[in-house]
Amino acid sequence: MSVIPHLINGELVTENGRAVDVFNPSTGQAIHKLPLATRETIQSAIDAAKAAFPAWRNTPAAKRAQVMFRFKQLLEQNEGRIAQLISEEHGKTLEDAAGELKRGIENVEFACAAPEILKGEYSRNVGPNIDAWSDFQPLGVVAGITPFNFPAMVPLWMYPLAIVCGNCFILKPSERDPSSTLLIAQLLLEAGLPKGVMSVVHGDKTAVDALIEAPEVKALSFVGSTPIAEYIYAEGTKRGKRVQALGGAKNHAVLMPDADLDNAVSALMGAAYGSCGERCMAISVAVCVGDQVADALVAKLVPQIKALKVGAGTNCGLDMGPLVTGQARDKVSGYVEDGVAAGATLVVDGRGLSVAGHEEGFFLGGCLFDNVTPEMRIYKEEIFGPVLCVVRVNSLEEAMQLINDHEYGNGTCIFTRDGEAARLFCDEIEVGMVGVNVPLPVPVAYHSFGGWKRSLFGDLHAYGPDGVRFYTRRKAITQRWPQRASHEASQFAFPSL
Ligand code: NAD
Repeated sequence: MSVIPHLINGELVTENGRAVDVFNPSTGQAIHKLPLATRETIQSAIDAAKAAFPAWRNTPAAKRAQVMFRFKQLLEQNEGRIAQLISEEHGKTLEDAAGELKRGIENVEFACAAPEILKGEYSRNVGPNIDAWSDFQPLGVVAGITPFNFPAMVPLWMYPLAIVCGNCFILKPSERDPSSTLLIAQLLLEAGLPKGVMSVVHGDKTAVDALIEAPEVKALSFVGSTPIAEYIYAEGTKRGKRVQALGGAKNHAVLMPDADLDNAVSALMGAAYGSCGERCMAISVAVCVGDQVADALVAKLVPQIKALKVGAGTNCGLDMGPLVTGQARDKVSGYVEDGVAAGATLVVDGRGLSVAGHEEGFFLGGCLFDNVTPEMRIYKEEIFGPVLCVVRVNSLEEAMQLINDHEYGNGTCIFTRDGEAARLFCDEIEVGMVGVNVPLPVPVAYHSFGGWKRSLFGDLHAYGPDGVRFYTRRKAITQRWPQRASHEASQFAFPSL
């Protein structure tokens, strides 16, 4: 079993001490050992970042962007290798893994526009011979902590932009599938990034706490579950750090009676069962307006769920791979039991699925519940597995109330042919990312990503324009150059025009 190293100051570093196993979820076998960083290891990454910062912040933005252009090329050239690593450790299909990488590369492309996005704001002649401008300067050393479900894309939401803005970055990826994340960071160094500007350290709470507590770390970007997001936000802001902490989700799709049902069903299948439901934008609740839509939807979904092609993600042509760990599979199965006990109708039961040749893999087939009600745990909590719940309501207003009352507000969508209903939904729904006939409305890289309510702690969303603001601080400069040397009398009243 190979040991996965940290990447600190341009060097691959291993350490003895605490370690965890990384599994291939399709076989159920441990395939790598992952060391868990000590506080000293974290400090060495911080020291390297601090040392690299002065030169990097003074490197022209256009030169910083050139590194990103080369990085994009290297990512594209290595797509197959990266997708294979993602699939091996996460379990998602190769096509899905390639898709997440492509969405990650979009963020590198956005970062290539550094000279444009860092231009600042300028006002000439705000007073006699006085000009004013706002400069957007880097923060220094910043850190990112990322989840298992997008080991390539979510880190790419963070560091290309942070780095191109002139910061140095320390990434603490998920301990469950770190190999693709590490390879991608190595490609960034190969693209010409000076050592120390980017480090990758593996670890658990010890490593995260060391980053939170280090005074040199000026900002924290987090993506993961809500309890940890809330913890990192509270502990980070308490220490005066800038924090954006993106948390969990329960994403509803509303089906109106006039929806194009066949297209809605296709969209729902991908959005609920793609990546085994392990996406923060996965649709996990279908809210049907009227029993007629609900009955028709369930009738169309059942054969498609039963026909899902499930297998080892690294094999081509599949719809779904396994869940990430045995623990995750057992947790999702527990929710299915809970739903049955609470009185929901289990229309399709994916438990007990065995994949020939992969009997030890962490597989679970697609599950569908009908007649789910808001007080059930399967409705209230994030399941993060291939389980879709159908809730029946009588009106769009009732559907919207249900969504607005939910603790999470990450993504949602409406399927309809009615422009008025769609417009009302977009205006009034209390969710950060909204789709109209689009099931996974993940914003493109030049918009920003983030939920509302307990799906995001902090003020600014991830990547795009909000990301630029998050990774820079404004400096407002007012400068006077008199036309001729002349003496002006002191002015004791507050300066104004
Ligand atoms: P997680 O919260 O378990 O882990 C996320 C990161 O936090 C990992 O790097 C992990 O090592 C670290 N961590 C775990 N426990 C910690 C602790 N006690 N103290 C400090 N750090 C700790 O999440 P996960 O299981 O890896 O990912 C799935 C979750 O992420 C889901 O809830 C999903 O909705 C969410 N997610 C949200 C978004 C979003 O944009 N809102 C995107 C992707 C995933």
